[in-house]
Amino acid sequence: MTAKFSNTKPMKSLNETINHLKKIYKKIEASKPKKYNICCPFCLKKTATLHFKYITAKYLKCSFCKSIYLSPTIDNSTLKKYFKLSSESSLINLIPMKTLKTRRKNLMLPRLKFYKKELKKIKFKLPVKEYLEIGPGVGYFTELAFSKKISKNYTLIEPDQNCNQILKSLNPNFKIINKNFEEIKINQIKKKFDLIFINSVIEHPHSIEKFFNKIKLCLSTNGMVCLTDMNASGIDNQILLEKTPNINPYSILQIASKEGLEILLSRFNLKILKVFSSGKFDMDMVYEFAKESDKNSHLKKYATILGSEKLRADLQKVFAKYYMTGYNSYIICHKNNTINK
Ligand SMILES: [Zn+2]
Repeated sequence: MTAKFSNTKPMKSLNETINHLKKIYKKIEASKPKKYNICCPFCLKKTATLHFKYITAKYLKCSFCKSIYLSPTIDNSTLKKYFKLSSESSLINLIPMKTLKTRRKNLMLPRLKFYKKELKKIKFKLPVKEYLEIGPGVGYFTELAFSKKISKNYTLIEPDQNCNQILKSLNPNFKIINKNFEEIKINQIKKKFDLIFINSVIEHPHSIEKFFNKIKLCLSTNGMVCLTDMNASGIDNQILLEKTPNINPYSILQIASKEGLEILLSRFNLKILKVFSSGKFDMDMVYEFAKESDKNSHLKKYATILGSEKLRADLQKVFAKYYMTGYNSYIICHKNNTINK
């Protein structure tokens, strides 16, 4: 059976999560936090256009690398307050258990199989000695990686307190660090990692610069980073704009385009070895939101255009061919990696 958007992200729980995050955002805004304008976090250029507004937040699109970022933004201490509030509200409880299982089976298992296949193609040997996952959440991906014996040792870095409790219950041998990755002191980790998995994380750090500097320091000489994240060139955000379900201030601070990520990585002597378009649900998602939207909304016409399931599936394939689905997956390594030499 093919994965369906409606099973993987049911509209009801999705809307509940969106409304909940909206309330937290409004709470932070009511405290009148200090804000400041920033340049593109990926290519560091200053010219950008307004991509969309979400209540009072402005998401800009970099004119040079086409990445999306929030500007003006808030300082790190306000951001921590935001994440504390969203952690206290245990958003994970809003998602039905059945959906979590479907998500693991339909999204994470194919993703893991895909990475295994691609790593084999570049002659990267599994299992590795040291596995690191940054922001594993409740550990859907970790559990699978462990069951498929990807590594001998597992280190998980997860700032959310609720998620930490769940991760601890998965396996007593997992080393779990309850911190933001970019704020960890390098001597606290004490080792280098052969394989680093990052699933939907890089949109959150206050300093994406510190985040990737730490990746550089943690990654073993021939180690690989498997990164799957939102894509700034995704057709989802280009059509849905502020309705794009995953884009909530201040949860999402920046979304990379492939070009933007490449420029950022080069500052740390890292490079993209391979890139794949990995979003599965863009057309279904646009269709679901179009059906629900107000009759005067620009989205309404997509409900008629995208009525055929077959058409949506075909369009999804075309957008994947042009790296225009909502997610990209990357295999990243040091520039001087010697694996294929
Ligand atoms: Zn840029």
